[in-house]
Amino acid sequence: MSSVNEHPETSGKSSRWVKYRSVKKAVEHHMNTVYVNEYESSSSDKRRKLNAGSDTAVNSTACSGNIVCSDHADKSSNSNTVSFTDMYETNSVANATAEEISGLLESDGYCTSGCDSVTENDDSSTVEDNVDVDTETESFCDHSNAAYDENEYKEASQLGDELVDWAGKHNVSQVAVSGLLKILSKYHSSLPKDARTLLKTTSLQPVLPMKDMLNNPGEYVYFGIERQLHRHLFNTVSEHSLDQLQLLFNVDGLPLFRSSSKQFWPILCAACVDDVITKPFVVAVFCGNSKPMSADVFLGDFISELSHLQQSGVRFGETIVKICVKGFICDAPARAFIKCIKGHSGYYACEKCEDRGKQVNKKLTFPNLDAQLRSDESFLHQTQEEHHKGVSPLIALNVGLVTCVPLEYMHLICLGVMRKLLMVHWLRGEHNVRISMQMASLISDHMLELKPYICSEFNRKPRALRDIDRWKAVEFRLFLCYIGPVVLRGILFSELYHHFMLLHVAVVMLLDPLHARERCEDASQLLRKFVSQLHELYGADSVVYTMHSLIHLTDDVKQFGALDSYSAFPFENELGQLKRLLRNGKAPLRQLCRRLAEHSNARERTVKNNSWPVLSGIHCNGPTCGTLGVQYNSMQYLGYTFSVKGTADCYALLKCGKIVKIVNFIDSATLSVIGHAFEEKSSFYSYPCDSQALNVFKVNHLCKDAFVFSHTDIARKCMMLPWKKCFICYPLLHVEHVTRQEV
Ligand SMILES: [Zn+2]
Repeated sequence: MSSVNEHPETSGKSSRWVKYRSVKKAVEHHMNTVYVNEYESSSSDKRRKLNAGSDTAVNSTACSGNIVCSDHADKSSNSNTVSFTDMYETNSVANATAEEISGLLESDGYCTSGCDSVTENDDSSTVEDNVDVDTETESFCDHSNAAYDENEYKEASQLGDELVDWAGKHNVSQVAVSGLLKILSKYHSSLPKDARTLLKTTSLQPVLPMKDMLNNPGEYVYFGIERQLHRHLFNTVSEHSLDQLQLLFNVDGLPLFRSSSKQFWPILCAACVDDVITKPFVVAVFCGNSKPMSADVFLGDFISELSHLQQSGVRFGETIVKICVKGFICDAPARAFIKCIKGHSGYYACEKCEDRGKQVNKKLTFPNLDAQLRSDESFLHQTQEEHHKGVSPLIALNVGLVTCVPLEYMHLICLGVMRKLLMVHWLRGEHNVRISMQMASLISDHMLELKPYICSEFNRKPRALRDIDRWKAVEFRLFLCYIGPVVLRGILFSELYHHFMLLHVAVVMLLDPLHARERCEDASQLLRKFVSQLHELYGADSVVYTMHSLIHLTDDVKQFGALDSYSAFPFENELGQLKRLLRNGKAPLRQLCRRLAEHSNARERTVKNNSWPVLSGIHCNGPTCGTLGVQYNSMQYLGYTFSVKGTADCYALLKCGKIVKIVNFIDSATLSVIGHAFEEKSSFYSYPCDSQALNVFKVNHLCKDAFVFSHTDIARKCMMLPWKKCFICYPLLHVEHVTRQEV
């Protein structure tokens, strides 16, 4: 397409022709935009008028020939003035003269050689990620001289929308999309012929230079909070349901390639609605070989806009939505960076108390559980100077940098405490706490046997202990909250098992979205006991920063709610997705900008499905218990997937206390669920508290008779782990349906 040159005048490529083509392209774009906008909102009569007008449009030349409105065409040709705001989203180029636009186009790399599409190349594979221009100017419809086919336009538009969603969902390369378009365009002539046109690949955000910590040049892009809120959040919620938005922010380093130190430092944002974190979106990204040199510079645009939004709010339809900063969710190094404090290896590292660390066996430990607590005021006034490295730019936001920067549990507990217990102590520690190879093998075998019983809500199934160096945070969470107490029982030394159960029970209490706040005091006592016993069980050098921080965990739960309402899991998921958007090592930040623009187009059409429960998998195998209706295999409800297939997703805890195995879903006038109840229910453990208080049961004897109940009787989905000759029943605590949302 790049060297079409069908117009006879293109051969000379005179400057006059170059300018004419540039202006024409801008006018075409403007007219096309006007047409599409008017088309969408106009009646069929108006559409006919618009179609008729296309015959007299200014662009009825021999080339592509966009459909335009005659009124606008006349106006444009007379005044030689066009509106160009759609392309650059800035008023500075609006109402520019033809000469100005011509210059603008040429300076921005637009192809001015007379071809119909801009900045294309025969070798699309080399172009894909090296072009940094807006290709929206290519015509979506190229049949102005033909009679306009309304149905065809609608069909092509709908097909185009579906293709954008599909390409975004599966991260399909532009080369592949272009190839598909070439095939489809034979049958749908209205479809664009280039992927960049379809996907609206743009790089509207300027990429700015910014130094990294090593004084090397890096790059930075600011997407904006308000703009991203409109793009990613407001289209999924009702305007009337919002009067205030509580925002969580995440700053973290993201290594990009194994072969280089190139890394992103994104600022992500998510709203916290009803204690559930929405899908995060990108506010800004730095790209360099290390972290940004200055937090002030890196956070400058972000703080400036957020300060403004805190005062003025964000307009959403007819409503002004108040913006509140709920907190900053980061790991310890990122917290130290944005708070301008000493790192977690410093003597005054604890962010919640003023304890001074002590060296024991060349390890920095924090054994004092009752040191003076920090407060937002003491942080602001830097009463303990040794804790600070400078003044944090976040102070300008007027948020408490002790209370609003929580110790989140993905990094602190899953990747911190639980990994340390397993790797540093039980598998590779001193002989008095280390488990033998034979015992480790037994634990691994048991974990692998549990695989078929792990609910579909867990993206990763258990792996053997020999793979522990590659375990992810979700695997440590699965071990700590569900399978650890089962596979360690009878194998780990009794004292160590009871000590581990202190942590298990405390975390289970704090994960429960319904009861976390009211159980804070109990959980706090368990965690303090856990930390205070470390010295005796694992040695004086075991009370390191991570372990010590546990004693402050419940302070954050009191403020933020259950652990999952301020966890880094959704942000970590988003970071992983950002990384997967890159297709090669060249200009990663520019690639990211283009992919995000494409994906946001797909997301804008994604409609959140709130119509729970959702049934699927029709069958006629029963049992029905005499209930007439359509039978289904699975049901999505409460954010969980229930399925009668397999052994993992068919168990539920009912509000009446019964634990049931679901065997059928029947849709008639109402939704009926058929299940069998367990007849025996007892405690699985009694230390440090009775497991039944946490809805954890040892169950046995499934009743042969099925009974019928309603889906509204279900309180929780359960994971049922076989243990000896019975089952251990765990209610699922965390909900991942938000992070599992389709892109
Ligand atoms: Zn402390």
